[in-house]
Amino acid sequence: MSEKFCIFCGKKPENKNLEHVIPQWLIRLAGQERKDVFAFLPKEHRHLTFLNYKFPACTKCNTKYADMEARVKPVMENVLSGGTISGTDASLLLDWFDKVRVGLWLTEMVYNPKLKDEVEPHFFIDSRVGTADRMLSIKKLDIGSTDGGILFNGTNSVLFTYCPSAFTMVINDYYFFNASNTNIVSPRIGFPIVRYAVVEDKTTGKFFGDIDFGRQKILSPVIKGFLPDKDSITFYQPIYKDFIGVPMPDATAQYVAEHSYDTANGIGGVFVQKGNANNIRYLQENDKTNINIKPINFPDIARDVVNFQNTIYEVSPLKNTETQLGMMINKKFLENTK
Ligand SMILES: [Zn+2]
Repeated sequence: MSEKFCIFCGKKPENKNLEHVIPQWLIRLAGQERKDVFAFLPKEHRHLTFLNYKFPACTKCNTKYADMEARVKPVMENVLSGGTISGTDASLLLDWFDKVRVGLWLTEMVYNPKLKDEVEPHFFIDSRVGTADRMLSIKKLDIGSTDGGILFNGTNSVLFTYCPSAFTMVINDYYFFNASNTNIVSPRIGFPIVRYAVVEDKTTGKFFGDIDFGRQKILSPVIKGFLPDKDSITFYQPIYKDFIGVPMPDATAQYVAEHSYDTANGIGGVFVQKGNANNIRYLQENDKTNINIKPINFPDIARDVVNFQNTIYEVSPLKNTETQLGMMINKKFLENTK
């Protein structure tokens, strides 16, 4: 299974086209056209400029996502200039991070077809945008007079290879922590969840379990083990596609309906938290929030992302031998770099 595949639908690319996983508008915005994506890796690694960092896709699939890119561009510009964004904007930004995160995961397999045979990815961008609970935490970096640029982190760890749930990205002087997986937000934001007990089918990841109709109230921290930085803004969004058509008790149904953007498709609304105080609030679709964050000193990005991946893994429901190994390798790294 090492032939070329479309990173959106996973099939043989129809009417082949090339997609920039890091979109061209963002490359230009960060002045990275001629910069090496893998500048920090040894010479033996394949080196490419950001503009040449592109991957097979069907023309039709690519066109569909070009529309998302056009809509997210002004939102990202607002974030990077410390402006304001709405609940709808935040939800779109979370879609975009799903796209980039899964795109970066698949590109590792384009470079290394052996890895693809080992991992046998059973989902592609199309099947992973907006399908599970997600979060995005944003910090601002004090980078002094440096130009900024684009850095993505954690996408080549063993844990990410088998469970592409969490990564971080630096864009100019903004630092993004993004994660998505089943049940990482819902339990403590008060939404119903399925307690996944048994994996039914290993290839599709289908499972069954018990339904817990939830508490209908918010607990802080929303993600156990993840306390946002005191200088940060964090967005949380529950997704409950598994519950479409499932009858819910009245209290649950009402809470879900009052905190959703699209009940028919199981898309919960966005909750926002400034800093790390217990001040998490629901953002209506048109409610605005400003991205006004105090800059922090340049952090240890390598340790940050490993810590973050293990925290998200801890609250994620499905674990297996490979992901368990990936978590242990991350843990060793943290011990060895203390
Ligand atoms: Zn396609």
